[in-house]
Amino acid sequence: MTTTLTSHTTEEVRALLAPPGSALPHELSHGLGGPYHLLFPQRFDANAAAFRQAFADAGVDGRVYFAKKANKAAVFVERAAVAGLGVDVASHGELREALAAGVRGTDLVVTGPAKDDQLLRVAVLHGALVAVDALDELDRVLALADELGRTARVLLRRLPPGQPHSRFGLDDAEMNTALRRCRTEHVDMAGFSFHLSGYDIRERADLAAELVRLCAQARTWGLRADRISVGGGFAVDYVGAEDWRRFQESTRPEHFHKHKAFSGYYPYHSPVAGADALAAMLTTTPAGEESTLAELVRAAGVTLLVEPGRALLDQAGCTVFRVQGVKERDGYDILTVDGSSLSLSEQWFESEFLPDPVLIPADRADIADAGPYPACVGAATCLESDMLTWRKIPFPVRPATGDLLVYLNTAGYQMDSNESPFHELPLPPKVVIEPPTYDSPSARPRWRLDRHP
Ligand SMILES: *Cc1c(COP(=O)(O)O)cnc(C)c1O
Repeated sequence: MTTTLTSHTTEEVRALLAPPGSALPHELSHGLGGPYHLLFPQRFDANAAAFRQAFADAGVDGRVYFAKKANKAAVFVERAAVAGLGVDVASHGELREALAAGVRGTDLVVTGPAKDDQLLRVAVLHGALVAVDALDELDRVLALADELGRTARVLLRRLPPGQPHSRFGLDDAEMNTALRRCRTEHVDMAGFSFHLSGYDIRERADLAAELVRLCAQARTWGLRADRISVGGGFAVDYVGAEDWRRFQESTRPEHFHKHKAFSGYYPYHSPVAGADALAAMLTTTPAGEESTLAELVRAAGVTLLVEPGRALLDQAGCTVFRVQGVKERDGYDILTVDGSSLSLSEQWFESEFLPDPVLIPADRADIADAGPYPACVGAATCLESDMLTWRKIPFPVRPATGDLLVYLNTAGYQMDSNESPFHELPLPPKVVIEPPTYDSPSARPRWRLDRHP
């Protein structure tokens, strides 16, 4: 039998999953006529506040930039603008959205490789920080700034020594050349940046210390170099340690529809996650140093920038499908829901979004609870491989048509990075949930559609 992988959740979401709160998700499913995402902006605010607190506790001058690519919703950049957070954008569209939401140009950092001239021009005109990824890009930034008679604010992105085959960043020789080219008019060389894949805290602390040393070197050349960005990559803890251990030890091909096997999974359990990972990084003593990263940064008068995407969205959303059909096969059920796996992006990285979806039964009399009832979850499309969940989830209640299936904690990357109107299925709308305006036991949360087109 498959093991359970119970998703961590919040009080707010728990109240929506059981009666009387679950009337709302059913109403929305009926009213919107298809799958949809729920967004909880208050969680975003709380996660951002925790990151800021980690900086304050360590006595470090730090700034938080929300990596916008993790979710397209307007509400998160609107919250970022109000809270005075920065935003990390990597396309002209993302930059436009951030500016329109009220984020000031000087609060933007523009990342991504080989940024096009239109993006660079608007970035320079708005005084945004540009994380330069290559020498030819630096030349284009300098030429544009010259042409516009403006000063370009740049960070130089470092190729991580531990990930030498990454396609991002400048190696030693390129970095030297770049620094020399920055000793000119029309450029404000603000400092250095990196973004690492994976979640290794020590690797980040080591590389951050290297960037602090680079700042000292650059200053001897008369450059400003007073900030470093350590990118994103703060883990999210989706499931408990015990569930995760049992899953890894006991999983076999027969636990999946068609004995599907995956080459690997996202690390759904992380003992140190989110703002705690930042706190741990700041108290790490980097290799070859005698002080903690916080002390090094403070002593050097350097501002530390972070660009979390996934971690700011922890518990800030979930995704709701309606069960459209149930078919029994070889001792388990195949559920078909009213959407596709393109609305659960992990499926498109040759992997699976593992935390168990939660069933909200329709108001029906025939709820038998002699479970578990194993079931996998397929999409309402004509592709054999379009499965939302290949794993046979052990549901405590037998799912039936009209029930809702809720995937929890999906705001970080799962919702829209791969969404598509394939089969003329509409894109799932995003519904923003806000707390009731008045305090009463009967008060219900308010909902509205997100403003993103
Ligand atoms: C994607 C990305 C991020 C955000 O990464 P998370 O893992 O979501 O925190 C931050 N910075 C850069 C440059 C990125 O490409």
